[in-house]
Amino acid sequence: MNILVIGSGGREHALAWKLRQSPHAERIFCAPGNAGTAEVGENVAIPASDLEALVRFAKENHIDLTVVGPDDPLAAGVVDLFTAEKLRAFGPTKSAARIEASKIFAKELMRAQKIPTAEARTFSDSSEALRYCEKAQFPVVIKADGLALGKGVIIAADATTARSTIDEMMNQRRFGQAGQRIVVEEFLRGTECSLHALVDGKNYLLLQSARDHKRALDGDHGPNTGGMGAFSPANNWNSKLQSQVEAEIMRPMLRGFLQERIQFRGLLYPGLIITSEGARVLEFNCRFGDPETQALLPRMKSDLLPLLEATIDGKIEDCSIEWDARAAVTVVLASAGYPGKYETGKPISGLEEAAKLKDVQIFHAGIRRANGEVKTSGGRVLAVTALGATVEDARTRAYEVVSRIHFENCHYRRDIALGAVAANIDQLS
Ligand code: AMP
Repeated sequence: MNILVIGSGGREHALAWKLRQSPHAERIFCAPGNAGTAEVGENVAIPASDLEALVRFAKENHIDLTVVGPDDPLAAGVVDLFTAEKLRAFGPTKSAARIEASKIFAKELMRAQKIPTAEARTFSDSSEALRYCEKAQFPVVIKADGLALGKGVIIAADATTARSTIDEMMNQRRFGQAGQRIVVEEFLRGTECSLHALVDGKNYLLLQSARDHKRALDGDHGPNTGGMGAFSPANNWNSKLQSQVEAEIMRPMLRGFLQERIQFRGLLYPGLIITSEGARVLEFNCRFGDPETQALLPRMKSDLLPLLEATIDGKIEDCSIEWDARAAVTVVLASAGYPGKYETGKPISGLEEAAKLKDVQIFHAGIRRANGEVKTSGGRVLAVTALGATVEDARTRAYEVVSRIHFENCHYRRDIALGAVAANIDQLS
C-alpha cells in the first residue's frame, strides 16, 4: 500500500515510523513532513492546509491510505474531500471533527448524553458573559469555542482576569472567529489523563493510557505549550476508572454521535481529569495526541495499518492490540523561548549516535537537514522516547539520551513522569 501522512510534527514522524514497520506498507509519503519523516519515507512539499493539492497528489500517486495528523485540516473537511474522490482517509469528517473544533458543540453533546464534565455556560454576547462573571465562583475556566492553537483556554483566578479575558476573546477577537462564542465553566481539581480510542462509527477500541505535560516549565509552571513530554501507562489510571469511562463517556458519546446522525470514524480521545468523584471530560480531541503518540506507538506491538483500515471499514470490533508491557517516557526538546519567540537555525549534535541506542526512539519535529547539517527549525525540536521495565527506568534512560543531544538554547523539562516515580509521589502530591 502507498500511504500519505499529512502533517509535519513529532506525531507525524511517529505515525510514519510505525507504519513503515507494516509488511503491507510500500511507499510512505509525508506532506510536508520533517527531517525525521524523510528518513522513513519521502517528503512532499505540500502544506497540510492546501487540501486541494493533497487530494491531487493522492490521486496522481495512487495513494491507498491517507492518515491525517493535525486537527486543522480535519476541521476544514480534508476527509470529506478525499472521500468524495473515492480516496481512503483516516480521520473524522468535517461535521464529526466539530467535537474538537467547537467546544460548545462538544458541551451540548455531552449534556444531551449526561456525560460527566464541568458545569458550563455558553455565551455569544460579551456583556452577558461579563454580567455572569460578576457573580461567578472563582476560579473559572474561559474557553474560546473554536480552534485557537491550544491557546484558547484561560483559567481566570478572579473577576478582573475574567473581564479582560472575555474582552480579549469576544470584543478584540484575539483568536479571530474562534472567540466569537465562549464557554465559561467550573474549575475542576484533579490529575489529567489522555485516553485514545479508535472509533469506527459503531464501536471503539481503547489504546493504552497516557499523560502529557502541557506547561513549559518544571513543576507545571509557565505558559501552556503543545506538550513538553508524555508517558504511558498513566499512573492515575486503573480498571475501575476504565469501566467508568467506558460506561459513562465512551458508549454515551458514540450514541450521541449517532443521534446527531454523525458517523465518527477516526481517533477520538477525551482529555480527562480524574477528580475525587471520578473521571470528567475536559475536552474531546479527534486526532492522535502530540506528544502522547510518541509515547504510545513505541509500546504498540501490533501492526498499526490494519487497525486504521478496520476503523475506516467499521470493523474495529474484530481487532485487538498487543502492547509492550514496558513503560515509555517521552521528553520534548524545545528551542528556548517556546511557546513564545525563539531562534532557529542552531546546529544539533549527538543525534545520530543517540538514535542508534536500543529501546530509544527519536522523533523529529522542528529539524531541518541541509548540506549535510542538521539544524533546529521550530519551537518543539524533537522528542526522545525511551522504554523501560518501569516508568522510573524509562525516565532514567530518556534523560540519559537527552544529555547526549546538544543545541544552543535547548530547553526541556526535567520533571517529565517524575510524579509517576514511586519515591516522588508523596513529595509532589
Ligand atoms: P482543553 O483544551 O479544554 O483541554 O484545556 C486545556 C487545559 O486547560 C487542560 O489540559 C487543563 O489543564 C485545563 N483545563 C481545561 N478545562 C478545565 C477545567 N474545567 N478545570 C480545570 N482545568 C481545566
